[in-house]
Amino acid sequence: MKPKILVIEDNEQNMYLVTFLLSKNGYEVIQAHDGSQGIDLAKKHLPALILLDVQLPVMNGYQVAHELKKDISFKEIPVIAVTSHAMPGDREKAMEAGCTGYIEKPINPDTFINDFQKYMPGFHPLKGTNL
Ligand code: MN
Repeated sequence: MKPKILVIEDNEQNMYLVTFLLSKNGYEVIQAHDGSQGIDLAKKHLPALILLDVQLPVMNGYQVAHELKKDISFKEIPVIAVTSHAMPGDREKAMEAGCTGYIEKPINPDTFINDFQKYMPGFHPLKGTNL
């Protein structure tokens, strides 16, 4: 079974790029376009990992991370913030809100999967895979 990744992202181009890269690398992508939908789909699917944009409508990424981490079901599920390279303060705020780590925007298609897989539960750095 393909690992399910929940992507919470309101920007269509970023959503398209991230979905493309993850699908191509053997992951199943669940898409949420705002924070509130993200929480609903996270609870419904309990994904292997959540990629969380910080600037989101309805609820921002910090609120989403905070809300998810209150729920014991998400204790072991990595929540990775996608933060803007131009906004260094976002990283600290994301970690304070309970995120496991962060990946910087703009997404670099050449390095994204490598960076992403470091956060996947059970990822084996020597084998280079957890699939
Ligand atoms: Mn956004």
